[in-house]
Amino acid sequence: MTKSKVILTGDRPTGRLHIGHYVGSLRRRVELQNAGDYAKMFVFIADAQALTDNMENPEKVRQNVIEVALDYLACGLDPERVTLFIQSQIPELCELSFYFMDLVSVSRLQRNPTVKTEIQMRGFEQSIPVGFFTYPISQAADITAFRATTVPVGEDQKPMIEQATEIVRRFNYIYGPTLVEPEIMLPDNSACLRLPGTDGKAKMSKSLGNCIYLSETAEEMHKKVMSMYTDPTHLAVSDPGHIEGNTVFTYLDAFCRPEHFAEYWPDYANLDELKAHYQRGGLGDVKCKKFLEKILNEELEPIRQRRLEYQKDIPAIYEMLRKGCEAARAVAAETLDDVRRAMKINYFDDADLIAEQAKRFNASQN
Ligand code: ATP
Ligand code: MG
Repeated sequence: MTKSKVILTGDRPTGRLHIGHYVGSLRRRVELQNAGDYAKMFVFIADAQALTDNMENPEKVRQNVIEVALDYLACGLDPERVTLFIQSQIPELCELSFYFMDLVSVSRLQRNPTVKTEIQMRGFEQSIPVGFFTYPISQAADITAFRATTVPVGEDQKPMIEQATEIVRRFNYIYGPTLVEPEIMLPDNSACLRLPGTDGKAKMSKSLGNCIYLSETAEEMHKKVMSMYTDPTHLAVSDPGHIEGNTVFTYLDAFCRPEHFAEYWPDYANLDELKAHYQRGGLGDVKCKKFLEKILNEELEPIRQRRLEYQKDIPAIYEMLRKGCEAARAVAAETLDDVRRAMKINYFDDADLIAEQAKRFNASQN
C-alpha cells in the first residue's frame, strides 16, 4: 500500500523550544518520523507568523530561527527524512493566504478562542495588527500548500485546524476539489495537551517566561524545578496534598513511566501510589521534585548533548535549511498551480482560453 499521510507542523521562532512544545508536539513528530508511516513530512519555522506580533523586533525572530532549528535536530528530527524549512522563504504561502482571505469573514476570525486569548495576552485589544488577526488564515495556507493530512500539535491549535478545514471545504465547494482537508493529531496523554508553566499558569509559553527549555543546563533546570508551583495548601509535610493543578504532578503525568520508579524511587510501584501518598499527607514536595528532576534529566540530557554537537557547525545547519526551503517551495508551487487553475487565474498556460477568446472576438468583428 502506498503511504498517503503528509505530516506538517511548525513553531514560531520567538524563543528556544521548551518542554511544553516537546510533549505537545515535538516528541510526537520524532516518533512519527521514526515510525516512517508517511509519504512526506514537513516541519517549519514560522518566522513570518512570529513577526505578526513581533513586528518591531525582527532581530529576536532572526536570532531564534537557528535556536529552533538546533532544538529540532537535538530532539532527533532528521533532515534526511523530514523537510525542514523557513516559512518566509516560500512566497507561495503569501499568495495562498491572500486568496484564502476572500473565503473567511471578520466575525469568523473574531470567534477564534485562541486568537482571542492571545490578543488579550499581548494587550492588542485597542489596536490589533491585521496580520496577527488573520494569522489563522496564513496558517491554513501553510497546511494546505503542502497538502498536509496530519497536523500533530497541542490543544491550543485546535481552532486553527478547524479554520483550515473550513477554508478547504469552502475552496473546494466554490472552485472544485483541489485542496486536502487536514486532521489534527493531539497528544494521547491529557497532561500534554497544554502543559502548564512552572508558575502553575495555564500554559507554558515562551511569551510568559514560565518555561523549562530543552537547551538549558541541568543546573538551570534544577533551580526551576525546585521553585516550581505545587499545592499552596500543602504547608507541612504531614498535610494532605492536592494533585489537581499541582504542576509537579502534571509534569509527572507528562513524563513519568512505570520503569522510572524501579530506577529512581522503588518505594512506589507507580504514579498512582505516589499520588495516593501525597494526597494522604506525609510526603514532602521536595522529594517529589527531586524525582521529577531525575526523570526530566533522563529525557533531556541526550537532547542537550546532541544540541552541543550541532552547535559546532552552524553554517551546515543553514545549508540544510536552504535545501529544505528549496524542496518545500517546489511542493508549494505545485499546489499553487492547481489553485490558480481552479480559481481561473492561470491565464498564460491556458491555451483553450486564449483560443476561445480569439475566436469570439474575431467572430464579433466579422
Ligand atoms: P508563543 O508564545 O510565541 O506563541 P508558544 O510557546 O505558544 O510561543 P508556539 O510556537 O506558538 O509556542 O507553538 C508551537 C507548538 O507547540 C504548537 O503545536 C503548540 O500547540 C505546541 N505548544 C506550545 N506550548 C505548549 C504547551 N504548553 N503544551 C503543549 N503544547 C504546546
Ligand atoms: Mg503560541
